Amino acid sequence: MKRIGRLMVRLLSLQLKNNNLCTRGSINLLPFSAIRRNMMRDNTFSKKVFIKTVSDNLKNKYRKTIDDATQQELYQAVSEAVKDVIMDEWIATQRVMDKDDPKVVYYMSMEFLMGRALGNNLINLSAYKEVKEALNEIGVDINAIEDQEPDPALGNGGLGRLAACFMDSLATLGYPAYGCGIRYRYGMFKQQISDGFQIEVPDNWLKDGYPFELRRPEYCYEVKFGGYVQESTDENGELHFEQKDYQSVLAVPYDMPIVGYDNNVVNSLMIWDAEPKNGFSLESFDQGDYDKAVEQENLARNLVEVLYPNDNHVKGKELRLKQQYFFVSASIQRALARFKKHHSDLKDLPNKAVFQMNDTHPTVAVAELMRILVDEEHLSWDDAWDITTRCVAYTNHTIMAEALEKWPIEIFQRLLPRVYQIVDEINRRFVMQINERYPGNEDKVRKMAILYDGQVKMANMAIVAGYSVNGVAKLHTEILKNQELHDFYEMFPEKFNNKTNGITQRRFLAHANPLLADWATKKVGAGWITDLTMLSKLKAYADSPVAQQEFAEIKRANKVRLAKYIKEHNGIDVNPDSIFDVQVKRLHEYKRQLMNILHVMYLYNKIKENPSMDFYPRTFIFGAKAAAGYRNAKKTIKLINSVADVINNDASIDGKLKVVFIEDYKVSNAEIIFAAADVSEQISTASKEASGTGNMKFMLNGALTIGTMDGANVEMFDEVGADNMFIFGMSSDEVISHENRHDYNPVDVYNNDAELRKVVNQLVDGTYSPNDHELFRELYNSLLNPQQGQVADRYFILADFRSYANAQQKINDYYKNKSAWRKSALLNIAHVGKFSSDRTIQEYVDDIWHLDRITVNMAGV
Ligand SMILES: *Cc1c(COP(=O)(O)O)cnc(C)c1O
Repeated sequence: MKRIGRLMVRLLSLQLKNNNLCTRGSINLLPFSAIRRNMMRDNTFSKKVFIKTVSDNLKNKYRKTIDDATQQELYQAVSEAVKDVIMDEWIATQRVMDKDDPKVVYYMSMEFLMGRALGNNLINLSAYKEVKEALNEIGVDINAIEDQEPDPALGNGGLGRLAACFMDSLATLGYPAYGCGIRYRYGMFKQQISDGFQIEVPDNWLKDGYPFELRRPEYCYEVKFGGYVQESTDENGELHFEQKDYQSVLAVPYDMPIVGYDNNVVNSLMIWDAEPKNGFSLESFDQGDYDKAVEQENLARNLVEVLYPNDNHVKGKELRLKQQYFFVSASIQRALARFKKHHSDLKDLPNKAVFQMNDTHPTVAVAELMRILVDEEHLSWDDAWDITTRCVAYTNHTIMAEALEKWPIEIFQRLLPRVYQIVDEINRRFVMQINERYPGNEDKVRKMAILYDGQVKMANMAIVAGYSVNGVAKLHTEILKNQELHDFYEMFPEKFNNKTNGITQRRFLAHANPLLADWATKKVGAGWITDLTMLSKLKAYADSPVAQQEFAEIKRANKVRLAKYIKEHNGIDVNPDSIFDVQVKRLHEYKRQLMNILHVMYLYNKIKENPSMDFYPRTFIFGAKAAAGYRNAKKTIKLINSVADVINNDASIDGKLKVVFIEDYKVSNAEIIFAAADVSEQISTASKEASGTGNMKFMLNGALTIGTMDGANVEMFDEVGADNMFIFGMSSDEVISHENRHDYNPVDVYNNDAELRKVVNQLVDGTYSPNDHELFRELYNSLLNPQQGQVADRYFILADFRSYANAQQKINDYYKNKSAWRKSALLNIAHVGKFSSDRTIQEYVDDIWHLDRITVNMAGV
């Protein structure tokens, strides 16, 4: 409530400013504290004042009144009012950081999949309900206003969303943190479905202006590319290295506020924009300068234009390496400038800053920090290495070879000539270390060296330099230690640790599912908002018929909400009383959406053959973006839509089966989807999904999981038990041993299972593509006829199919027992506590970062 009080105070003071005809940014006529003191007499939220502020904002910004403002203008006006409140806490937090000089984590990530800010900020300011009611009174629906906000989709999928959840938890727990990333002008593409095919449309998320960002030109830095390195010796005989004839851009940060939950802490996400360094003017250049100026201008424009829409897959694109170096260099420069405000001795840096590298994407940070310490701060190599290796830590996100970043040395050296020299020296010293420990063992060098085979191996550099290497779920970390990174584990066992991923309950329950959130609060109190393990008290209600009924009504209301969304966006009627069976996540072969849709085809065959069979009506819901160049992924989307066309239009099956592909899966519609799910599909090939976080969001919202023993599913199973989850398929050990022995033959499975054979044949017999029987040939081939260099059914879809179908049959049977199902759903919620990102962040703090909490007190402000 404190915050609501201050919201009111702040809004009153705004009104006062406006009454005094002070415009935003001008000096207050009254001392600020005096205004505040005056307003503290009545410490309740005033809807009147809020509405007055919104209408003043509309007047000042658009010359409009509430009645003639568009929804977008209302969104902007409301957001400005909310931002103004945040600003006070942001300033106060910065003041505490300046005064206390705490150690700070810089969370470096190429992606932050933030989702919308307005609703989340209101939740974390604990002012959502009041603002909703205030808007209601003037006939404005807060949901419609929130829908005006574009998703800042500065990420692909799980990795970027993890970074966003971490930012929320860091602020809520009161840990000083900066997120460091890129302000892509175009976020993740918007997906349109046309004739069943995915079309990628640019996502111009900044076109109306984004109210929750702040340009900070005073913290801009130069970042240099290309040219050559000039060596010179000074009068003391010391070597100096200088990059010459380079191109450079200016990195300009935009800060976004990260509001902690009800604690006055506001951290910053700094995302970097690129601007040309020289104001470009025609007259002042001779021809050579002119060309260079054009190049620099283009470099700046291109650098932050696009987010590469690849998930768990990298192509060695030059521009991507430039992006990485760009935001890493700028972030480190800003971090060091902050450090130097308080300190002169760089040996103190590890006590004040830690750089957490989210996957290999920012790992050029290792060499960049070394470069700055050696070249610009004139430290010895050994001192610089000592500092660097106590400041950087690395999170591994995958074991899949195609996702591990490797750069051709030629590109790396040409773009970053001095940084390359540093990498070369790090590598030289490390290879000596390998040779000392394993004399004559070239295999070890081949596997562990940073430079090998003409490539720079970023993961290897991160492991050599990082003082911590963590996986993102227990199983994943064990696979890293025992298989993928075994050689490194033998050399540096102390570096390896696990940090099982988590999600923030503020967004994925409090905001996404207000009905369930309120219900949980009524049952167990509001403590779960900052301590998710409090939900374990719901265990006491799992058997209660009343609680089960209340839960069922909430779930149904959320299904009606999703059904409405589907009707509006897809034009399909779905039955809220059918089982909502959902698979939403990036489209990737290892996630096996293909197995899911093959199973739908299988069910359809069975219902057609036996219309009176025992079958509980089911709606299969998919949502997934495919990387633009990923053929099999895009064909799978087309297949899902083609199957949907046939099944949804077959009156003979009486609506028992429906298939829906939700266009443009993103955080904002994800929130609606999770809340409405009965069944959560987490069916990756065991060993391939490092953790998954979608699985946790479903669990939080009371869906039952059908899944493999992969990633964090394993730990969910440990928490919730076999009775409340549907596990199927090969174990990761089985998968890995088949991979090592090359002894899996999907044709055997195909030959021995007539029903499955029929389904697979339907890919190429025109059942779902009457006008082009070859349309799905590639998918068929991926299972049975591998093309050059590929492996048949690499993701063991046929091997796991029968076990999957059996688990699905169990779901069908179990759902009919309403009481049992609801009990299991409640037990899922009651056991979700471990999967809060608050828990994850506390573990990072305890084991890796060693930060102290800050307290921000607004009483005197
Ligand atoms: C949570 C989330 C993901 C990650 O989902 P997984 O099932 O773990 O792959 C991807 N995209 C969005 C929008 C999400 O919210």
